[in-house]
Amino acid sequence: MAEQKRDYYEVLGVDKNADDGAIKKAYRVLAKKYHPDMNPGDVEAEKKFKEASEAYAVLSDPDKRRQYDQFGHAAFESGAGGGGFSGFDFGSGDFGDIFGDIFGDLFGGGRARGSRSSGPMKGANIRTQVRITFEEAVFGVDKEIELTLKDECGKCHGTGAAPGSSPETCSKCGGKGQVVFNTQTLFGTMSNVQTCPDCGGSGKVIKDKCPECYGSGYIANKKKIQVSIPAGIDNGQSVRIREKGEPGRNGGPRGDLLVEVVVSRHPIFQRQDYNIFSTVPISYAQAVLGGEVMVDTVDGKIIYEVRSGTQTDTKVRLKGKGVPSLRNKAIRGDHYVTLVVQVPEKINSEAKDLLRQFDALTGDSLNYVKKHEKDAKKSDDTGSGGKKKKGLFGK
Ligand SMILES: [Zn+2]
Ligand SMILES: [Zn+2]
Repeated sequence: MAEQKRDYYEVLGVDKNADDGAIKKAYRVLAKKYHPDMNPGDVEAEKKFKEASEAYAVLSDPDKRRQYDQFGHAAFESGAGGGGFSGFDFGSGDFGDIFGDIFGDLFGGGRARGSRSSGPMKGANIRTQVRITFEEAVFGVDKEIELTLKDECGKCHGTGAAPGSSPETCSKCGGKGQVVFNTQTLFGTMSNVQTCPDCGGSGKVIKDKCPECYGSGYIANKKKIQVSIPAGIDNGQSVRIREKGEPGRNGGPRGDLLVEVVVSRHPIFQRQDYNIFSTVPISYAQAVLGGEVMVDTVDGKIIYEVRSGTQTDTKVRLKGKGVPSLRNKAIRGDHYVTLVVQVPEKINSEAKDLLRQFDALTGDSLNYVKKHEKDAKKSDDTGSGGKKKKGLFGK
């Protein structure tokens, strides 16, 4: 050994128990500081960079780290039988993955992987909204929406160049759409790829622009698009219509159109998931005697038999009268009806008399004081009781 090696943890300045994230972070800082590209000709920096890279190569690999923790540097010396990690071979593909990840974002320019812009690329997605009623959301509906979509320009067929001319190959990138910066590093040649600033990645420049599309190659057209909105959809959910978005590039498919559904409020019904909720008023007499009431559901009016002795705020379940499931129309949620006893504000004197009779017959069990029961026969103003109790007989 030529010189004493520093401890890998010490090199990276991390704790022995540091997790992968901390090790990576520490290395990123050092790599950026000492990278040969940032310190041309600086031998000391290069040494530091190499040292940090070696430490990182070991500590970022769970197996190597375990060996190092056990045997120290001896684990990787030749003849130690420690996995044949002799010296530090930057050329091996083994390390390419480790460092590629780091240097990818260290030097900006995105991922330096292949030439993406020259192949077919899918167009961008477009988002829009459509308003539907509560019932339309429940049962589904077909809607037509109008939208401005880009299409290939008919005059230049998407080239953007005036008729009789054609786009010229970009001189900056030679038509590749990307500019490659090669840098020599300890790993060998590193390529940093960036979108060509002159042609924006298309590889072509247009000198004589098409008068129809002003060189964009696209024309905006108003289009009517049919949207089939499935039964069970809820407010805020979207329907995807394939390939009705922005046009693709280089023969790639169009992006998608995402239509977000906005459901209008309903005067009677509220919805939660696949269940529907509503409130139905019933009269005092209906509550006491029981009887049939009309209940609105999304399937239309139905007759519901109120049980005698129903208390106010009683909830009843109408099974299967809710919203169909998006996945299976046949499965529906329920409709919960809250029966609310209505107390009339005004009744005529005959009704009041009857109510007092009723009260005399039934009121004993209730927790209030009756003062002058006999007065109740004629008078209808003051003092028939400590509290007034109102009700309704008949319709
Ligand atoms: Zn054109
Ligand atoms: Zn270019």
